[in-house]
Amino acid sequence: MSLTLCPKCGAETRRLYKNVCRQCFLEQFTLAVLPLVLHTRICSKCNARFDRNKWRDEGDLEEIVLRAVENELFIHDEADDVEVSIYPREMTPHLYRVRVNVDAMVEGEPLHQELRAEVRIIREACDRCSRMAGGYFESILQIRANNRLVTPEEIDSCKLICAMMVEKLWEKGDRFAFVTDVLDSKDGADIYLGSANAGRQICKKIISEFGGTFAEAPTLYSHKEGKDLYRITFSMRLPEFMPGDIILYKDDVIEIKTSGKNSKGIYLATGAKFLEKTEKLDDATLIANRDDAVGAVLVATEGDDIMVLDPSTYQTITLKKPLFFSSEPGNEIPVISTEQGLFALPEDSAHKL
Ligand SMILES: [Zn+2]
Ligand SMILES: [Zn+2]
Repeated sequence: MSLTLCPKCGAETRRLYKNVCRQCFLEQFTLAVLPLVLHTRICSKCNARFDRNKWRDEGDLEEIVLRAVENELFIHDEADDVEVSIYPREMTPHLYRVRVNVDAMVEGEPLHQELRAEVRIIREACDRCSRMAGGYFESILQIRANNRLVTPEEIDSCKLICAMMVEKLWEKGDRFAFVTDVLDSKDGADIYLGSANAGRQICKKIISEFGGTFAEAPTLYSHKEGKDLYRITFSMRLPEFMPGDIILYKDDVIEIKTSGKNSKGIYLATGAKFLEKTEKLDDATLIANRDDAVGAVLVATEGDDIMVLDPSTYQTITLKKPLFFSSEPGNEIPVISTEQGLFALPEDSAHKL
């Protein structure tokens, strides 16, 4: 192999790298650059890191240190097959020392560089934690029911949905999805939330499970940097009728089985299935509940009819046979007495429609 002269230092070389010998090339080539001191701002409460004008959740402190180094580490464009190893060492809770090894191929030559830096950790309160601590809220979710009181079970379920939803929305990046306060009132509960979007998503989730409606009303509460700031009140109304309620709707007696956007049930007179938009049930009235059912002795079954002994008059009366009816004469079956007459209730196994 022939030798050439390096135009820069005059040394003999087998190969030129960017027109100079290997020695001269390495002297002027910098594989990687890292500032000696890095600063990173993290939240002392939740470990969020402030990066590119935003607080982000990035895991534990060591991962944050790695991320801070990766963000500041500059590697030459001409490097191929780059491998970076970062070794952080905690000196104090406010100071990490890191050693960085960079290996790469440049101009077909393997290059190695070791760098050292100090990562100084500045602890402060992030936007989310300082808002939480300050009792900040952007929306109020008022849980009520249509024409009745909300039950304690419903309030518990709504609070549970709320807790699950704020967690989920936070994970998805809504940093202000948190509950500031929960106030129980005698007609329901008010949930104060850090984000208006969270309030809206929680309403939708609750309605998808229990039915009902919600309306939102913004109120101006402040001006900041020329912008109007609004708080939004979400007024939720859970549906009036719950599973097991027996209602009178358009002269029919219906047992409600499920209540969501639509209400499903059974026409007690015929055993036919009932399906109606829940909002249309505003005109219906509650006349009884499955819990009010009493036992009546089944005397006989005949085709679509059954004969039972009316528990109050001891007279035999004929009723329509309920759906999924399997009782034998002599057994007791649940009946419900209403102003519209006596009705046999479908068995509990028929609960599912
Ligand atoms: Zn040279
Ligand atoms: Zn925080």
